[in-house]
Amino acid sequence: MRIAYGGISCENTTFNPVLTRLADFQIIRGDELPPNVRYGFLADHSDVDLVPLLFARSGPGGPIDAGDYNTMQNEFLDRLCAAGSIDGLYLDLHGAMYAAGRPDPEGDLIRECRAVVGPDIPIAISLDLHGNVSDTMTDNVQIATAYRTAPHDDMVETRARAVALLVRTITEDLKPVVYRLGIPVLFPGELTSTIHEPMKSVYAMLPDVDRQAGVLNASLMVGFAWTDSPIAMANAIVVGFDAAACRAQCARIAAAYWEAREACNYGVRDGSFAQCLDWAREHDGRPVFISDSGDNPTAGGVADLNSAVAELIEREETEALYASIADNAAIERIRAAGQGAEVSIALGGKFAPAFGEPLAVTGRVQLFREDPGAPFDTGALALLRIGGVDIIVTAHRCSFTDLAEFDLLDIDPTKYRVVAVKLGYLFSELREIASLGLMALTPGTVTLDLDTLGFNEAKRPMYPLDRNFAWSPPAPGEPGRY
Ligand SMILES: [Zn+2]
Repeated sequence: MRIAYGGISCENTTFNPVLTRLADFQIIRGDELPPNVRYGFLADHSDVDLVPLLFARSGPGGPIDAGDYNTMQNEFLDRLCAAGSIDGLYLDLHGAMYAAGRPDPEGDLIRECRAVVGPDIPIAISLDLHGNVSDTMTDNVQIATAYRTAPHDDMVETRARAVALLVRTITEDLKPVVYRLGIPVLFPGELTSTIHEPMKSVYAMLPDVDRQAGVLNASLMVGFAWTDSPIAMANAIVVGFDAAACRAQCARIAAAYWEAREACNYGVRDGSFAQCLDWAREHDGRPVFISDSGDNPTAGGVADLNSAVAELIEREETEALYASIADNAAIERIRAAGQGAEVSIALGGKFAPAFGEPLAVTGRVQLFREDPGAPFDTGALALLRIGGVDIIVTAHRCSFTDLAEFDLLDIDPTKYRVVAVKLGYLFSELREIASLGLMALTPGTVTLDLDTLGFNEAKRPMYPLDRNFAWSPPAPGEPGRY
């Protein structure tokens, strides 16, 4: 049995004006792929002749430049052609990819792969639950599965499941079909975390759906909210053999999510950045983490918005840390000034003029470090002290999700009273050390206040952009894709 594998993966918001370019992608080719930790689970398939193609991935950002996307897709397809005869194809995708003028690149890639391998070779895809799904995607694959946890704790497990289902499909000569039912709800991931209710219970349904007769696997995609696209919405996806059973289970998952929509919440107190700072002052315990959610780079934010930093300085907050502002020009100035020096710079505010201007600040360079290299994507970075506020400045767009990133500057976040981070929900290491977490509903290209973004392409009505409309899953068996 020969299975080819690889993929192109990115999360692109149409509201970020900065295009994602080829240089932003890390591309691993051919024989460099198998040792990658991403695919360690393939060791379980020693009896399968695995053919590594290419895996390209960039951090979340603005739309991918059209020409750059074509370059990657063409190379992928060339490698697939060169792979020769195969029994199956596994595509490691995200679901939230968007290229300029190309609203469904995953669909395009899957369709082109189908054209190469012909109609009879099974294709399996794995997705992030924060992805959007088109008919082109599901019509051309036999297996589709997605993460079941957010924050994501089952990424490797999901990829392994996709490959295991593909191997089983080939071995047992199965003919599974992918059923998909769109749900008119478009929520950011911060409102649909699976670590608290109501989504904890909604996702807990999925293993039960898997066990139903005629069903192979179930997924619930909550979608990617910051893409203005006709396919941006939630989807129930059920893979199986019994059409009536799969459609009924799609309807069951969709109904559960629809019923839960009004109860969806951030899991922490939310308010303006100023309100969060007030609550932090009242809180007895440290550190208080405040998510500056409107410029969350893990959702595709520009990562240089400075309104929260301006507020920290203006309010003369003390024992406060801000992570982080991406500003290569500022890093050049800081490097030239040197550690310990005082420096005056125009900080951030350069990528998305609609959300503010560079902020003139004078501070002392507490620490400077040259680019630590992979696995970090910070570039050179510095800790700048302005009064009682420490600000992390990085050369590249990046996010501080784990303690390892703070370690780069010998920073112990637990020593601070307030730690403001460009994130939405806190990743697990930060959640564990937070005495209190707060969600600041700040403006930005990935604001949680979707009403302010101006959707033109999204299907309507769509909750919560529209609130007063009724919906129920169409009866199983009615005409349609599902
Ligand atoms: Zn995700």
